[in-house]
Amino acid sequence: DLAIDAAHKSQESWSKSSPVERSTLLLKIADRLEVNLNEIAIAESLDNGKPIRETMAADIPLAVDHLRYFAACIRTQEGSLSEIDNDTIAYHFHEPLGVVGQIIPWNFPILMAIWKIAPALAMGNTVIIKPAPQDPLAVIKLGEVLNSIFPPGVVNVIVGSSPDIGAALVDSPDVNMISFTGSSMVGSKIMESGGKTMKRLLMELGGKGALIMTEDCDIQAAVGGIASVWGFHSGQICTAPTRVICHKSIYEETVNTLKATSEFMTVGDAREESTLVGPVITEAHRDRVEAFIQSGIDDGAEVIVGGERPNMNGYFVAPTLLAGCNPDMHVVKEEAFGPVVVVMSHDGDEHAVELANDSDYGLFSYVYAGNTTRAYDLGRKLESGNVALNSIAPHMYAPFGGFKMSGVGRDRGRWGLEAYSEVQAINWPS
Ligand code: NAD
Repeated sequence: DLAIDAAHKSQESWSKSSPVERSTLLLKIADRLEVNLNEIAIAESLDNGKPIRETMAADIPLAVDHLRYFAACIRTQEGSLSEIDNDTIAYHFHEPLGVVGQIIPWNFPILMAIWKIAPALAMGNTVIIKPAPQDPLAVIKLGEVLNSIFPPGVVNVIVGSSPDIGAALVDSPDVNMISFTGSSMVGSKIMESGGKTMKRLLMELGGKGALIMTEDCDIQAAVGGIASVWGFHSGQICTAPTRVICHKSIYEETVNTLKATSEFMTVGDAREESTLVGPVITEAHRDRVEAFIQSGIDDGAEVIVGGERPNMNGYFVAPTLLAGCNPDMHVVKEEAFGPVVVVMSHDGDEHAVELANDSDYGLFSYVYAGNTTRAYDLGRKLESGNVALNSIAPHMYAPFGGFKMSGVGRDRGRWGLEAYSEVQAINWPS
C-alpha cells in the first residue's frame, strides 16, 4: 500500500517531465551501474549461484546497454499521423499508463528488472518492482542506485516471500499495468485476476525451445550453439534450445558430438572464473529437476550424459542429455529449467516442423540448415515469437515475446517501450 501510494503521488510530476529529462536520468543510472559493476555482479552471483563470468560479461553490461537504448528511444519517440481517411485526419500519441507493477523471476534479476524499469520510466510511468523471493539482493542494491537519482516515489522496490505480495499488486485498482515475467502457471492466474480491474498486461512466460537440424546442416555449429546454452546459468533460461529435433541420418553423430562437448562443461563454484555450470537456484528446484530427469528415464529415454547428482556440496545438477525421446514424454513437453537437453529424430522438414510445433509453448526456436533460404523457410513455419537461423544468438532489440502459453505482448525494442503506454488518437475533419 505504501509503495502504491508513493508511486501515485509521484506519477503526475514524473509524467510531466520532458523526455530529455527522463533520458538524462536513465543515462546517469547506466553510468552508475557501470562504475558499480563488480559490486552488483557479485551480489547477483552470491544470491543465485550464477557464475561470476556470466554476470560480469553478460547480465550487467546488457542491463547498462538497455538503459542507454531506452534513453535514446524516448528522445525520438513521437506521435504519428494515422493512415489517410477521406474526410478525417487523426494523429496518435503514446501516453504513460500511470503506476506499473513489475513482477520478475529469479533467473536474471538485474537484467529482467532493467528490461522492465527502463522503458516504463522512459515512457513517464512510475514503477513498483517485486523481485523473486529466492534472490532479491541485487535488485535491492539496484533500487538504492535508482533512488539516489530518480525523484522519490518514481521507483519502488518491494520484497517478500509470499505470493500474496505480487497478487496484491495485481488486485489493486490503483495499479494500471502489470508487467510479469515468470511461469505460465502464475501468468494464467495473473491474467484471470488482472481482468477484474482491466489491467494492461505484458506477460513473458515459459518456453521449451525447439532446435531443428536438417540432414545437410553444420553439426558442429549446431552442437556448439546448444552446448553454449545447455549449462549457461545451469540451463535456467526460458529461451534455451533444449528440445533438439535432428534428422534421422545425422542423429547418431549429433548425440555423440553433444556427448563429447559436454565434457568441457565444468560444474563448480559460481565464484570461480573456470566454472561454466553453477548450482541451480534452490534445493527444492534441484529436487524438481532431478524428478524431471527421472520421469524421462521412466518413460524410456536413454541417458547419454549426466542423470546423476554430482558429488559436490551444493545444489548442483550435472548437464544431462536424454536421447531416444518422443513427443508424448513429459520431458519433451515441459520446461526442465535445468541443464537438461532432450533429443528426438525427424524424417524430413515437414515432420520436423510438426514436432517443433507440437508444444504448448512458443517462445524461442532455432533452425540449423545447409543454407539460409532453407532455414528461413522452416523458421517461418514455426509457432514461435523468435526464431534464430544457423545461430543461437538473439538480437537484443528485436521484439521479444511468446506465441501460445509463452506469453502476451512484446518486450524489448520500440515494442517494449510502447507496451508501457496508452494510445490516444486525436481526430479532426480534413
Ligand atoms: P514464478 O512464476 O514461480 O514466479 C515469478 C514471480 O511471480 C516471482 O516474483 C513470484 O514471487 C511471483 N508470484 C508468484 N505467485 C504469484 C501470484 N499469485 N501473483 C503474483 N505474483 C506471483 O516463476 P519463477 O520460478 O520465478 O521463474 C521461472 C519461470 O520464469 C520459468 O517458467 C521461465 O520460463 C520463466 N521465464 C520467462 C522469461 C521470458 O522472458 N519469457 C524470462 C525468464 C523466466
